[in-house]
Amino acid sequence: MTDQTITMEKQKRIALVAHDNCKIDLINWAKNNKSQLGKHFLCGTGTTAKLITEATKLPVTALNSGPLGGDQQIGARIVEGDIDFIIFFWDPLSAQPHDPDVKALLRIAVLYDIPIANNLSSADFLLTSPLMEMEYKRKIIDYRERIK
Ligand code: PGA
Repeated sequence: MTDQTITMEKQKRIALVAHDNCKIDLINWAKNNKSQLGKHFLCGTGTTAKLITEATKLPVTALNSGPLGGDQQIGARIVEGDIDFIIFFWDPLSAQPHDPDVKALLRIAVLYDIPIANNLSSADFLLTSPLMEMEYKRKIIDYRERIK
Protein backbone atom coordinates (compact mmCIF):
# COMPACT_ATOMS: atom_id res chain seq x y z
CA MET A 1 0.00 0.00 0.00
CA THR A 2 1.31 3.43 -0.91
CA ASP A 3 0.37 6.75 0.61
CA GLN A 4 -1.11 9.81 -1.03
CA THR A 5 -1.45 13.32 0.29
CA ILE A 6 -4.30 15.77 0.24
CA THR A 7 -3.58 19.46 0.63
CA MET A 8 -5.28 21.50 3.31
CA GLU A 9 -5.38 25.14 2.24
CA LYS A 10 -4.52 28.02 4.54
CA GLN A 11 -8.20 28.56 5.02
CA LYS A 12 -9.33 25.39 6.77
CA ARG A 13 -12.77 23.82 6.58
CA ILE A 14 -13.59 23.26 10.24
CA ALA A 15 -16.40 21.12 11.67
CA LEU A 16 -17.64 21.96 15.17
CA VAL A 17 -19.52 19.42 17.29
CA ALA A 18 -20.34 19.32 20.99
CA HIS A 19 -22.49 16.93 22.95
CA ASP A 20 -25.09 18.60 25.14
CA ASN A 21 -23.07 18.64 28.38
CA CYS A 22 -20.09 20.10 26.50
CA LYS A 23 -21.90 22.75 24.45
CA ILE A 24 -21.28 25.59 26.87
CA ASP A 25 -17.53 24.86 26.79
CA LEU A 26 -17.44 24.94 23.00
CA ILE A 27 -19.57 28.09 22.80
CA ASN A 28 -17.30 29.93 25.24
CA TRP A 29 -14.23 28.66 23.43
CA ALA A 30 -15.65 29.86 20.09
CA LYS A 31 -16.39 33.28 21.59
CA ASN A 32 -12.85 33.54 22.93
CA ASN A 33 -11.41 32.51 19.57
CA LYS A 34 -13.82 34.31 17.32
CA SER A 35 -11.26 36.28 15.30
CA GLN A 36 -9.14 33.21 14.59
CA LEU A 37 -12.18 31.06 13.71
CA GLY A 38 -13.48 33.81 11.44
CA LYS A 39 -10.54 33.20 9.06
CA HIS A 40 -11.81 29.74 8.22
CA PHE A 41 -14.93 28.03 6.82
CA LEU A 42 -17.12 26.64 9.59
CA CYS A 43 -19.80 23.99 9.72
CA GLY A 44 -21.24 21.91 12.53
CA THR A 45 -23.94 19.59 13.71
CA GLY A 46 -27.35 21.28 13.89
CA THR A 47 -27.67 22.52 17.44
CA THR A 48 -23.99 23.23 17.92
CA ALA A 49 -23.85 25.26 14.70
CA LYS A 50 -26.94 27.28 15.63
CA LEU A 51 -25.66 28.08 19.13
CA ILE A 52 -22.21 29.10 17.91
CA THR A 53 -23.69 31.35 15.23
CA GLU A 54 -25.92 33.00 17.84
CA ALA A 55 -23.04 33.48 20.29
CA THR A 56 -20.39 34.69 17.82
CA LYS A 57 -22.32 35.91 14.74
CA LEU A 58 -19.91 33.83 12.66
CA PRO A 59 -21.46 31.92 9.74
CA VAL A 60 -21.56 28.24 10.67
CA THR A 61 -23.22 25.94 8.12
CA ALA A 62 -25.65 23.73 10.03
CA LEU A 63 -25.82 20.05 9.16
CA ASN A 64 -28.34 17.70 10.76
CA SER A 65 -28.35 17.35 14.51
CA GLY A 66 -25.88 14.72 15.70
CA PRO A 67 -28.46 12.11 16.76
CA LEU A 68 -30.18 12.57 13.38
CA GLY A 69 -27.09 11.84 11.32
CA GLY A 70 -25.01 15.02 11.61
CA ASP A 71 -21.89 13.11 12.65
CA GLN A 72 -22.28 10.87 9.64
CA GLN A 73 -22.62 13.88 7.36
CA ILE A 74 -19.32 15.21 8.71
CA GLY A 75 -17.72 11.80 8.15
CA ALA A 76 -18.99 11.72 4.56
CA ARG A 77 -17.63 15.21 3.92
CA ILE A 78 -14.23 14.15 5.23
CA VAL A 79 -14.22 11.23 2.81
CA GLU A 80 -15.17 13.56 -0.04
CA GLY A 81 -12.39 15.98 0.92
CA ASP A 82 -14.71 18.80 2.02
CA ILE A 83 -13.79 18.97 5.73
CA ASP A 84 -10.23 19.01 6.99
CA PHE A 85 -10.31 19.94 10.66
CA ILE A 86 -12.58 19.03 13.59
CA ILE A 87 -13.30 20.35 17.03
CA PHE A 88 -15.42 17.65 18.63
CA PHE A 89 -16.18 17.87 22.34
CA TRP A 90 -17.74 14.48 22.99
CA ASP A 91 -19.06 13.75 26.45
CA PRO A 92 -16.96 11.19 28.33
CA LEU A 93 -19.56 10.89 31.11
CA SER A 94 -22.84 10.17 29.28
CA ALA A 95 -24.02 7.48 26.92
CA GLN A 96 -25.21 8.82 23.55
CA PRO A 97 -28.02 7.32 21.45
CA HIS A 98 -25.80 7.78 18.38
CA ASP A 99 -22.67 6.28 19.90
CA PRO A 100 -21.94 4.18 16.78
CA ASP A 101 -21.95 7.38 14.69
CA VAL A 102 -19.58 9.08 17.13
CA LYS A 103 -17.21 6.14 16.92
CA ALA A 104 -17.46 6.12 13.13
CA LEU A 105 -16.60 9.81 12.94
CA LEU A 106 -13.58 9.38 15.20
CA ARG A 107 -12.40 6.47 13.05
CA ILE A 108 -12.80 8.36 9.77
CA ALA A 109 -10.99 11.37 11.23
CA VAL A 110 -7.99 9.23 12.17
CA LEU A 111 -8.05 7.37 8.85
CA TYR A 112 -7.97 10.62 6.86
CA ASP A 113 -5.30 12.20 9.07
CA ILE A 114 -7.64 14.99 10.18
CA PRO A 115 -6.55 17.20 13.08
CA ILE A 116 -9.19 16.65 15.74
CA ALA A 117 -9.47 18.29 19.15
CA ASN A 118 -11.61 16.47 21.70
CA ASN A 119 -11.19 18.82 24.64
CA LEU A 120 -10.45 22.45 25.44
CA SER A 121 -6.70 22.26 25.78
CA SER A 122 -6.35 20.34 22.50
CA ALA A 123 -8.54 22.92 20.78
CA ASP A 124 -6.32 25.71 22.15
CA PHE A 125 -3.14 24.00 21.02
CA LEU A 126 -4.49 23.18 17.55
CA LEU A 127 -5.97 26.56 16.83
CA THR A 128 -2.78 28.38 17.82
CA SER A 129 -0.54 26.15 15.74
CA PRO A 130 1.45 28.03 13.06
CA LEU A 131 0.17 25.36 10.66
CA MET A 132 -3.27 27.04 10.84
CA GLU A 133 -1.83 29.80 8.65
CA MET A 134 -0.19 27.47 6.12
CA GLU A 135 -0.96 24.84 3.56
CA TYR A 136 -0.48 21.34 4.94
CA LYS A 137 -0.34 17.96 3.24
CA ARG A 138 -2.32 15.31 5.07
CA LYS A 139 -1.37 11.71 4.46
CA ILE A 140 -4.10 9.38 3.27
CA ILE A 141 -3.84 5.69 2.56
CA ASP A 142 -4.13 4.82 -1.12
CA TYR A 143 -6.26 1.70 -1.41
CA ARG A 144 -6.40 1.78 -5.22
CA GLU A 145 -3.86 -1.00 -5.69
CA ARG A 146 -5.68 -3.16 -3.18
CA ILE A 147 -9.04 -2.49 -4.86
CA LYS A 148 -7.53 -3.47 -8.24
P1 PGA B 1 -26.05 18.71 17.96
O1 PGA B 1 -25.34 17.35 17.73
O2 PGA B 1 -25.03 19.77 17.70
O3 PGA B 1 -27.16 18.78 16.95
O4 PGA B 1 -26.54 18.71 19.36
C1 PGA B 1 -24.17 17.03 18.43
C2 PGA B 1 -24.13 15.59 18.76
O5 PGA B 1 -24.83 15.19 19.69
O6 PGA B 1 -23.42 14.82 18.09
